Amino acid sequence: MNNLVLNSESLNYVLENKTIDRQDIIDIYQKSIIQPNELFYTAQNLRKKYKKNTVTFSKKAFFNIVNLCKDTCSYCTYKSEPGESKISLMSKKQISELLQLAKKYRCVEALFVTGERPEQKYQEASEWLKENGFNSTSEYLVHASEQALELGLFPHTNAGNLSYEEMKELKKTNVSMGIMLENISERLTKKGMPHYLAASKKPKTRIQVLENSGKLGIPMTTGILVGIGETMEEIIDSILAIKALHQKYGNIQEVILQNFQPKPDTVMKNSPSADEKYFKIVVALTRIIMPQMNIQIPPNLSPKSYHSFLSVGINDWGGISSLTPDFVNPEFIWPEINKVEENSKKSGFELKCRFPVYPEFFSFISKELRDKIAVIKDKEGLVKENYWK
Ligand code: SF4
Repeated sequence: MNNLVLNSESLNYVLENKTIDRQDIIDIYQKSIIQPNELFYTAQNLRKKYKKNTVTFSKKAFFNIVNLCKDTCSYCTYKSEPGESKISLMSKKQISELLQLAKKYRCVEALFVTGERPEQKYQEASEWLKENGFNSTSEYLVHASEQALELGLFPHTNAGNLSYEEMKELKKTNVSMGIMLENISERLTKKGMPHYLAASKKPKTRIQVLENSGKLGIPMTTGILVGIGETMEEIIDSILAIKALHQKYGNIQEVILQNFQPKPDTVMKNSPSADEKYFKIVVALTRIIMPQMNIQIPPNLSPKSYHSFLSVGINDWGGISSLTPDFVNPEFIWPEINKVEENSKKSGFELKCRFPVYPEFFSFISKELRDKIAVIKDKEGLVKENYWK
């Protein structure tokens, strides 16, 4: 059997709902480097089958709660050091003011982001927590989440490796939570590699957090960072690891595929951005590995071509904010929502606003949270158009 036929057969299997194994996926990838159209076509068909002609986003405000971090990743520009002008230590008053503004702008999601356990490394962080009346960052996040909910905004926390108990507490107020797997490869944690100085990025640790989220039944967002020196086998193994978690617990609500972009003030400043064709192959492979998954790319990281990813398998743009910057990628401003809507429409897709929890995961959250969602929910479980527009 020649490889081209094998490639077609494997992709036909996918369309027929048959399982393909790791070696099939590697074979599909190797053929697709030369000619990706067949893979893209299959991904597009699956996307249409399971997600119709809708593309979603979440209208959010980004709360940069604290950007001190005990770890150091070679590509990160979010992390700050004490004394730097970009440092963020949001006070209760600042959180409350931004929440009010977010409500006024009819945001739906309050995204709460922090560095990894800053109080373990920085006195500034422990003092800031004390000043505001808290012992830990996670306690502060519980408070911020309660405030958001009171105003009718829906919290989604991404605060690194939270413990089981911390996540259990945050589940009461957060309709979903997030943590990037980044990559399953131990190799990327070795000396000279991007996660060498980031203990929290050790794959086993990340998987444990995701396992805990599964045990707790938290709708979870995870994903991988593409273009940081990984091999395609490592990408495939990462996606398969996410798939295995989802098969075990059923709680992975979406997979973010984030293309690496070098940042001027980082160790990886001279590394090239993820190649677009390679990135599209990763997107399409993710769709064929998990045909029904919600797959997201951030539109601000592919500013000129994001809409072209609609034809290789994505169905979500993630959180977009008209109010706050993307503090993780501050050089990449989010496109205006009406522009995203226009570009989606030109590509044949209708833009709709979702909650930070996808409708198919509503059963994972408490009745109290579902009742709050019901106030602005349409019959599809998305945000009523007259609320977000
Ligand atoms: S990516 Fe996250 S864990 Fe890594 S340095 Fe930045 S804030 Fe810390």
